[in-house]
Amino acid sequence: MKFSLKLLLWTMIVMAAAFGFSGFYFVNYVFERALDREAGQALDESSILKFAFETAALNVPAKYDVLQEDTTRQIASNLEAGGQDTGRMLRISDDQKQVLYAADGFTADDGLLLALDENTKTYRVIRLEDSYYIQTAARVEALDKSLYLETMRDVTEVFHDRATGFVVYRRVTVVILLLGTVLMHLISSWLTRPIRLLTRATKRMAAGDYDYRARLVSDDELGQLTADFNRMANALEDNIIKLEEEIRAREDFVGAFAHELKTPLTAIIGYADMLRSHRLDEEKSFMCANYIYTEGRRLETMSLRLLDIIVTKRQEIELQMVSAESLFFYLYDMYAAKKNMDFHFTYDEGMIRCDASLIKSVLINLLDNACKASEPGSRIDVDGYAVSEGYRFSVKDHGVGIPEEEVYKITKAFYMVDKSRSRSRNGAGLGLALCEEILLLHHSRLEIESEPGKGSCFSFVLPWEDGAPAAWRSDGEGGGEA
Ligand code: ADP
Repeated sequence: MKFSLKLLLWTMIVMAAAFGFSGFYFVNYVFERALDREAGQALDESSILKFAFETAALNVPAKYDVLQEDTTRQIASNLEAGGQDTGRMLRISDDQKQVLYAADGFTADDGLLLALDENTKTYRVIRLEDSYYIQTAARVEALDKSLYLETMRDVTEVFHDRATGFVVYRRVTVVILLLGTVLMHLISSWLTRPIRLLTRATKRMAAGDYDYRARLVSDDELGQLTADFNRMANALEDNIIKLEEEIRAREDFVGAFAHELKTPLTAIIGYADMLRSHRLDEEKSFMCANYIYTEGRRLETMSLRLLDIIVTKRQEIELQMVSAESLFFYLYDMYAAKKNMDFHFTYDEGMIRCDASLIKSVLINLLDNACKASEPGSRIDVDGYAVSEGYRFSVKDHGVGIPEEEVYKITKAFYMVDKSRSRSRNGAGLGLALCEEILLLHHSRLEIESEPGKGSCFSFVLPWEDGAPAAWRSDGEGGGEA
């Protein structure tokens, strides 16, 4: 059952119960009060009649102060006639409860007399056929007689009013409930609107419409829920986009990998076939063997790099404090001897938080690329300096540079700007991809600035753990040149 319908149903049940109970209580309260009033009046009337009877008995001339039965009836009849307009009836009985006088229609039994004490008066409510009466009883002392005076007061009207009250109240309740149902239906639909919008959003998202969001129509708890749902949907959409990008990247990777494998393998198979099926002279045989060797080396490099990337991706590294000096001395030892390049090493001294061997591998890749992209003898600057966010390394060459539209692609696996140039230098397009993986472990990434024909600058920042140590000096003092 729909939530709005449940809300409506329960509200109507509660409303019906509340109206029913309060209506019953109210009508009954009014009835009780009216009946009490009638009973009070009946008892007052009884007292007045008693007094009138006793007075009348005293005023009747009687022999030896004896009250005759005829006299009794006469007095009773006079009293009865006096109150005809009020619809009250009278009955007089002797002390043996023998009826001496009874008005027409006074058919009540003598049960009330049995309950009457010596000096009290009492009353009860009785029903005779379709009418209701208040019956009172009181003792009357007249001359030598002790008599019982009973009255009956018609209170059918009070009972009738109660019945009418119930009928009217029932009708009013039904009308109110009907109006309430329509109103509550509108209210519950309005209250549950955010839920309906949320449900629609959930369905649309489940059907693949990930950028669909639930409309915010209230600022209560349901509005909060909608806002939270939308936030969750944003996070979900981001993750899905990331996953899709990852899948696409993997597919691209596999495609590029297959392609990169095919080229050297085709060359190897072709030259090997030539060697085994033709008698070649020594020079041609050497050329074939050389092609096979070079392409084999490229395959080896590629497989080693791939292995490095896979290992790095799965690696959990422990960062240690390493001196910048040691890293630069290492690079100096490796590259300064390369007489065909003009290397310049400049750095700030101090300690860096990193995995030394992995960062060395990044720097070697960048230096190798710079060498590959440059003409022999051209200048390559390798700098290390402290900045506010961390320690910045940069490798700057004056080589071929990279076209602007290619810059963001070169860190992708197997991507080479100039494939023949890269392959001729044993490149596989995996070096920068490996650098990105390593830098990701150090919470850093490559920044590339390049201008075709003028050169490129590759840099990255290794972040401080808790802000820059005071020992760092970025004004060059304390720095070094390897
Ligand atoms: P590889 O050098 O093995 O081909 P990399 O991933 O290291 O693979 O580099 C990808 C491509 O980026 C290279 O093929 C080259 O085209 C380009 N590249 C990298 N560094 C430089 C640079 N310093 N100057 C110009 N092009 C560069």
